[in-house]
Amino acid sequence: MNENSPMYQDLSSVLYSTEELRAAVRALGERITQDYRGKSPLMICILKGASLFFTDLIREIDLPLEIEFMAISSYGARTVSSGEVRLIKDLDRPIENRDVMIVEDIVDSGKTLSYLMRLLNSRGAKSIRLVSLLDKPSRRVVPLTVDYSCFQIPDAFVVGYGLDYDEKYRNLPVVGVLDPKVYSN
Ligand code: 5GP
Repeated sequence: MNENSPMYQDLSSVLYSTEELRAAVRALGERITQDYRGKSPLMICILKGASLFFTDLIREIDLPLEIEFMAISSYGARTVSSGEVRLIKDLDRPIENRDVMIVEDIVDSGKTLSYLMRLLNSRGAKSIRLVSLLDKPSRRVVPLTVDYSCFQIPDAFVVGYGLDYDEKYRNLPVVGVLDPKVYSN
């Protein structure tokens, strides 16, 4: 896809190019590889937003890891979180005594991840760490620290590289700020 695509015209700015995303994901994969040396982490992809980041990230981690998928409710055709978290797809197997990593696309209020932490903590994991491509710390409502993130971003609604608005823009190969004209009328 090139920059003449109509999807690019809906962005007010590009925050991270394909090359910047690739470099950041590679560096994060190397960090996780060092930190989990000798372990076999269970990496949980939170659908759908984290799917592109997740499949790129696991290929940069040189460990005998395993993968799982969970789905939770999203914004829908809105740009502000309702704060209500719903589990749509649960894990297929137990996580007892596993080193778990939850992989998200973006942490905003922190409500989604704190809900998931509570849920998975009650299932006897050995450790749980949070991984997110993007972090918007200024928007936090629930105290929550992201263990690994690629970029901290200001308070803006972003799309691309898995992140959607009304299910669109996930296939944009960059992360950009969605022009408010797209959702304001
Ligand atoms: P939280 O529960 O932390 O408020 O929100 C987390 C979820 O909200 C993310 O997984 C993502 O689906 C959605 N979200 C938060 N900020 C943005 C954003 O800037 N763009 C998009 N597309 N989704 C967002």
